[in-house]
Amino acid sequence: STRDWQAADAAHFLHPFTDFQSLARKGARIITRGENVYLWDSDGHRIFDAMSGLWCVNVGYGQQALIDAAARQMQQLPFYNAFFQTATPPAIQLAELLAEVTPPQFQHVFFSGSGSEGNDTVVRMVRRYWDLLGQPERQVIVSRKNAYHGSTMAGASLGGMAAMHAQGGLPIPGIVHIEQPHWYQVGREMTPEAFGVHAAGWLEEKLLELGPEKVAAFIGEPVQGAGGVIVPPDSYWPEIQRICDKYGVLLVSDEVICGFGRTGHWFGCERFGSRPDLMTFAKGVTSGYVPLGGVMVGERIAKVLIEQGGEFEHGYTYSGHPVACVVGVENIRLIQQLKLVERVRDETGPRLAKLYASLRDHPLVGHAETCGLMGAIQLVKDKSDGTLFPSELEVGMVCRGHCFGNGLIMRAVGDRMIVAPPLVTTAEQIDELGRLIAMCLDKTWADVKANG
Ligand code: PLP
Repeated sequence: STRDWQAADAAHFLHPFTDFQSLARKGARIITRGENVYLWDSDGHRIFDAMSGLWCVNVGYGQQALIDAAARQMQQLPFYNAFFQTATPPAIQLAELLAEVTPPQFQHVFFSGSGSEGNDTVVRMVRRYWDLLGQPERQVIVSRKNAYHGSTMAGASLGGMAAMHAQGGLPIPGIVHIEQPHWYQVGREMTPEAFGVHAAGWLEEKLLELGPEKVAAFIGEPVQGAGGVIVPPDSYWPEIQRICDKYGVLLVSDEVICGFGRTGHWFGCERFGSRPDLMTFAKGVTSGYVPLGGVMVGERIAKVLIEQGGEFEHGYTYSGHPVACVVGVENIRLIQQLKLVERVRDETGPRLAKLYASLRDHPLVGHAETCGLMGAIQLVKDKSDGTLFPSELEVGMVCRGHCFGNGLIMRAVGDRMIVAPPLVTTAEQIDELGRLIAMCLDKTWADVKANG
């Protein structure tokens, strides 16, 4: 029964990003089944999973082609590694397919087991690159506040989450942060376009402060995801690209969330017009069915690593895991067959955008924005001037509670309510999502009014 699961869970399972005492008090919600965009819990409730698990189940739950591919590979060869001049056909096939679907500068891939490991690989690879070019002083990596790049020591250091840095003495040396391009929070006295250029200028200021010859790379998510779906103005990334080019700094796009169709383009950098040298991916590469991540390595770097590098002293047991790689291949083929990227760009993305535009009239909503199939709703106390609620009221958590109680998974980042539904979500399901969101906003508004 649900109670038995909850008791065993609280007794033994230390959940990630979870307050242990609160979990023990309230009990975990036990998820037992998934189909298409829906989940079922152990009490039989159906839930619209508007977060695609953790932004990853792009093709939705229950895709037989992925399940069959994994089963076949497990029977034939469940594991072999890619160390010491060995390889398996699935890893080679996926590498070839990734070179086809990523921007043309990417012809090589380094596999990892997760996005965090991918970003650790980035740190080692960019430092190795500059070493090989005889510029070992280029060590510093510039990232952004409120970014999420993973939970390993390097991933959490690249990330700009203050609460993560407060635990474990982070960031590690050589990683610095600039402000995020959050127009609604800090830029509203400018047009979004002017603010985008202004916010990119913070990178140039930081480079000049540090000395550009000391900077190895700049890393950013095209749209900051876990930070609250912060969609940058269109002028931001081209300006970042210009600054990186001017100072010879490598550009790294963390595509762990934005990759594989989320923005209505194969990769977020294509949506926003940057040409990264490295690109981290995970999540959507297998739609989360099995763990897999990696780094696409641009030719500028690959050439140096291959021709001058000798052995790169880095790798994971599960780099190029054959079961993960066959699932990756089937997943990408399915995205192509179902034309999911085009559907997000031309049909479901614009429909979500229209829905969010209509939500702006709600008394609780200060701002609502989308990018492809990602959306954020900023709840505010006073929509006339965007005054936020005092954080101790936890209005976002109240709203999240109403979502949970009414069969919807929507995430709260402070008082920003965010969604990233599976890319298979149909136009009708976007409308269903709209009705659910509106109902949960109304219930939250009723609570706010009742509590003065
Ligand atoms: N980078 C981004 C942008 C992410 O959103 C995440 C996870 O949410 C990661 C990296 C870390 O990926 P993983 O959890 O697979 O280690």
